[in-house]
Amino acid sequence: MAQVLVVEDDATIRSSIIRGLTDRGHAVVSAPTAMAGLEQAVSARPDVVVLDLGLPDLDGRAMLRMLRGVSDVPVVVATARDDEAEIVAVLDAGADDYVVKPFGVAQLDARIRAVLRRSAEDKDPTVVAGGLTVDPRTRRATLDGRPLELTPREFDLLHHLAARAGEVVSKRELLTEVWQLPYGGADKTVDVHLSWLRRKLGETAQAPRYLHAVRGVGVRLAAPVS
Ligand code: CA
Repeated sequence: MAQVLVVEDDATIRSSIIRGLTDRGHAVVSAPTAMAGLEQAVSARPDVVVLDLGLPDLDGRAMLRMLRGVSDVPVVVATARDDEAEIVAVLDAGADDYVVKPFGVAQLDARIRAVLRRSAEDKDPTVVAGGLTVDPRTRRATLDGRPLELTPREFDLLHHLAARAGEVVSKRELLTEVWQLPYGGADKTVDVHLSWLRRKLGETAQAPRYLHAVRGVGVRLAAPVS
């Protein structure tokens, strides 16, 4: 759930967006003009702005530039024009994503969630899975609050798996991404490092908590079910 500011002059479109986003659990404020939108962006401090480009008082692109002067709030632009040049221009002007009218609220909601996810990652790249935290800036990892003593390779391996938590990652991918060996390298290398990592996480292949081998495919990091 997010606090969303909708800037849209068309009352019918505005109320349908408000209704759709409210139904999906967002708290929505709105403005019918660019200037009112700028005021709301400052006073209501939304998590994300949905900005119509065709506004009566100011071009949406000009508003975006003014908004960027006072706020780095994520912006999803709603454009009536499926025009490559226009879309490139608004992305360059500081928009985070766009939808082309007419769009469904489900799509808008998905875009909103995606930009919020990205902005959260930009703020803090620390990956958390259960009791595990992995911070790529400091290259520190902790388990249940205790620091893990990892070699650089073990850290990279853990970070790669934790960043994709819940997904099965193939050994091939790990060799490419963690070992930088696109054309080969033995699965055995990955297995050995995984077993070292397991020991440091206090688990075994037979009784896994975080690192789950998926036979013939790869490995999946998942938080233990409590
Ligand atoms: Ca409009």
